Amino acid sequence: MVDAPQKYLFVISAPSGAGKTTLCKKLLQEFASIQLSISSTTRKPRGTEQEGVDYFFLSPEVFQEKIQEDRFAEWALVHGNYYGTSKEMIESAFASGFSVLLDIDVQGAEQLRKSYPRECIRIFIAPPSLAELEVRLRKRGTDSEDVIQKRMQNAEREMRAGLQFDFVIVNDNLDRAYAELKGLVESRIGTRSKGSPGRQIG
Ligand code: 5GP
Repeated sequence: MVDAPQKYLFVISAPSGAGKTTLCKKLLQEFASIQLSISSTTRKPRGTEQEGVDYFFLSPEVFQEKIQEDRFAEWALVHGNYYGTSKEMIESAFASGFSVLLDIDVQGAEQLRKSYPRECIRIFIAPPSLAELEVRLRKRGTDSEDVIQKRMQNAEREMRAGLQFDFVIVNDNLDRAYAELKGLVESRIGTRSKGSPGRQIG
């Protein structure tokens, strides 16, 4: 019997503003066999964010129920809100032959490393410096001053945790950082035809 191809959890973590979202989008556009995990969160929607597209926006009560029911593969308190990845989402992607891309924090990445030691590849996207990170957060213009301050405080802790990851990519230049990320993914799942976007799942 021929073994089914190996599926992976590509876990991408970074301090906010390191360019992780852009890199993830590029990856999904290029690799048809990777699906994006849509997390649940108790945070309120920002700007144009949509239910079931960007996140599943849950009340703290419903989120707690799901924790009690052991429905999350990982969950964490990040910047004062809960975020989690559903077990069902990962398992159904694997069952359909897809690898999964997860944009989650360093605590969640550590939990997945333990639960999925064979599948989990942790990639940390680092900004060139903390000062540059602060500039990017302000330019983005989506967060209030106290949120920016909270994110900067967390960034230093996240950078330390990121050094323990399987791979660290410094996003000093988007094209260069993407080439590194793409090479890494290709070395695991091979090349995939372009122009066939990865489907989102949740
Ligand atoms: P944001 O509120 O800016 O969308 O996300 C804040 C942080 O939460 C980011 O670092 C993001 O990667 C992380 N995050 C998003 N979804 C999850 C999740 O399901 N689990 C964990 N542990 N972190 C998440």
